[in-house]
Amino acid sequence: MRIQFLGGTGTVTGSKYLVSGEHASILLDCGLFQGYKQLRLRNWVRLPLDPARLDAVVLTHAHLDHSGYLPLLVKSGFRGKILCSEATADLCRILLPDSGHLQEEDAAFLNRHGATRHSPALPLYTEEDARICLRQLAPVSFDRHVAVAPGLGATFRRAGHILGAASVALDDGRRRITFSGDLGRSDDPVMLAPAPLEASDYVVVESTYGDRLHDKRDPMLALGAAIRETSARGGVVVIPAFAVGRAQNLLYAMHRLKESGAIPAFLPIFLDSPMAKDATAIYRRHRADHRLDQAQCEAMCRAATIINTVEESKELDRRQGPKVIISASGMATGGRVLHHIKAFVEDHRNTILFAGFQAGGTRGAALVGGAATVRIHGQDLRVRAQVACVDNLSAHADSDGLMAWLGTLGAAPRRTFVTHGEPGASEALRYRIKHELNWDCLVPEHLQELRL
Ligand SMILES: [Zn+2]
Repeated sequence: MRIQFLGGTGTVTGSKYLVSGEHASILLDCGLFQGYKQLRLRNWVRLPLDPARLDAVVLTHAHLDHSGYLPLLVKSGFRGKILCSEATADLCRILLPDSGHLQEEDAAFLNRHGATRHSPALPLYTEEDARICLRQLAPVSFDRHVAVAPGLGATFRRAGHILGAASVALDDGRRRITFSGDLGRSDDPVMLAPAPLEASDYVVVESTYGDRLHDKRDPMLALGAAIRETSARGGVVVIPAFAVGRAQNLLYAMHRLKESGAIPAFLPIFLDSPMAKDATAIYRRHRADHRLDQAQCEAMCRAATIINTVEESKELDRRQGPKVIISASGMATGGRVLHHIKAFVEDHRNTILFAGFQAGGTRGAALVGGAATVRIHGQDLRVRAQVACVDNLSAHADSDGLMAWLGTLGAAPRRTFVTHGEPGASEALRYRIKHELNWDCLVPEHLQELRL
């Protein structure tokens, strides 16, 4: 087998690994680059492969930085199957058309306001392109060996993280390479703990938090305090969160905070996403993929008022006063949350609260880093609201969690590749793997190709 790293190196976005066997080649993940402009521009560069000759795609999970390039791959001629877990397929059916829709909206906005040097600005792909690619989704079960392409097989294991997320062991009958995908936390209140690693010749491990440990204190305390203090001064809490998957963890947290009296029981909570209702149904449908029982699942679903239409969404911004608004995107790179940040960021009573990793180059990273102004839709806004980041609400394992997962492997692999992290985080994890486990370990570079 050979592997080429086409994304997810030096960044937490754009995950794409080309794996070639004797008779077939496949892509493991097919993500969009996000964040820094020079990364986003990579989405427009032709891949160093012929999509028409690619045999299959294997997806670890539905986050766009792992799945968001699929519509373009299919548009460029890919005709094979897209293998993924059942819940990942369900989430992709919601997320990918929405991604196409957002890109069309962004292009239209730029054209309307002349805020582009390209005339006209074009979307990377459209909602229609995304719907077309969904026909190639081929859901598979967890914990069963499945054929992927001639000579290549795979086993999906639960990775925690978000609904349907998997670690995937690929094999050619002789060698096995396991991709961690994004690893969740063993103590996540909603998602199950990641399954242990099985014997592998090679391991590709993510390193989002490779250089960090989550705060050991209960994140519910920090979340509860931020909401309580903001509503006491009559302010609004805006929480940018991935609308499908992560938002549900937040809803469950809201339910528990109200139940314990940590936040006022009457405090209005809104989940502003046209996708939220469908996502909730997906949680009900995939009960084996998370920890919530029927009653907890229903309580989570009822924890917020779901906002569907754009008109209702705009209405939220017209009124001040204590409330919580959860809305996408999670790193404030697009979507409805931008309108809410625009409406509330200039008032000192309000709080913009981030609940997950903020990739470099995103508005989220700038705000968490203390930016005094934020540019939204071509307008510069003064940041007067409180900006908080409750890191330990993250859906990712921290450095100790990643090491613990690697430690479930009985014998050292021939080599470990550290990917899906910003350079400092990947290097810190490589150092730990080399010195604590004594394994051969490499942080691959963009487009690097290796024989396995
Ligand atoms: Zn993810």
